[in-house]
Amino acid sequence: MKIYIDGKFYDRGEARISVFDHGLLYGDGIFEGIRIYNGKVFKLKEHIDRLYHSAKAILLDIPMQPAGMEQAVLETVSMNAKVDGYIRLIVTRGEGALGLDPAQCERPSVIIIAGDIQLYPQEYYEKGIAVVTAATRRMPSDSLDPRIKSLNYLNNIMAKVEAKQAGCLEAVMLNHEGYVSECTADNIFIVSRGTLLTPAPHYGALDGITRATVLDMAESCGIPVSETALTRYDLYTAAECFMTGTGAEIMPVTKIDGRLVGDGRPGPITKRLIDAFRNLVLQKNL
Ligand code: PMP
Repeated sequence: MKIYIDGKFYDRGEARISVFDHGLLYGDGIFEGIRIYNGKVFKLKEHIDRLYHSAKAILLDIPMQPAGMEQAVLETVSMNAKVDGYIRLIVTRGEGALGLDPAQCERPSVIIIAGDIQLYPQEYYEKGIAVVTAATRRMPSDSLDPRIKSLNYLNNIMAKVEAKQAGCLEAVMLNHEGYVSECTADNIFIVSRGTLLTPAPHYGALDGITRATVLDMAESCGIPVSETALTRYDLYTAAECFMTGTGAEIMPVTKIDGRLVGDGRPGPITKRLIDAFRNLVLQKNL
């Protein structure tokens, strides 16, 4: 495996960053997770765009232009001869002094890893998964805007631990007002009275690229969609539920806090969207 760090490629064992990098010391940095399907990088422009928006929001000057970043990603993919896989693109604040001040960091570091991902076995996509509502809340958007895909995932990790402790694979996170925001690393959708509903980003959700893809696909299938406010009541009374993310793709959720969603099996709209998503990612020109 060849890993890109600041313009050079290193073998896995040689790929290292400084222990003084503020990405490690303080989680000061941003990242993207991107899929490679059939030799094509899925929604690369959208991911690069979100990366530069995250950077702008935290005053991080990425030391290369978006076009150069795209090139670096594509080069890493071809260097590793990846046809199907997962790219982790990270920009850290860079090496600095002990102390929070990012001005002490001279140059952000860009790291690109092209590897593999298998979050869930196939049978879960057919049967769905059980989730619980976590007591750990999503970071309030006036503390850290959920649209910033930062290296700071500690509250999501705590919610994931809660899910595991409850014998589930995932947790639903609420925002500080009790509205549904998202899962620990995935967006959430429900189907209610034939409409596809998902929390608007300002309720504490990442502006997910799979989320946007699903909203587009639903519209072209003639399924009404709405970005709105959702409470646990909406989850408990939903006909269908699923989560979306680059790694998980579209995962049916069939149990929430011990209650069956619909009849406890993935619903027809969820299945239709899973099929549409499969067809989309396998198209030659994305
Ligand atoms: N929410 C969070 C907190 C995430 O980290 C992610 C990415 N894994 C998502 C939602 C899904 O976003 P995307 O579809 O862009 O991968």
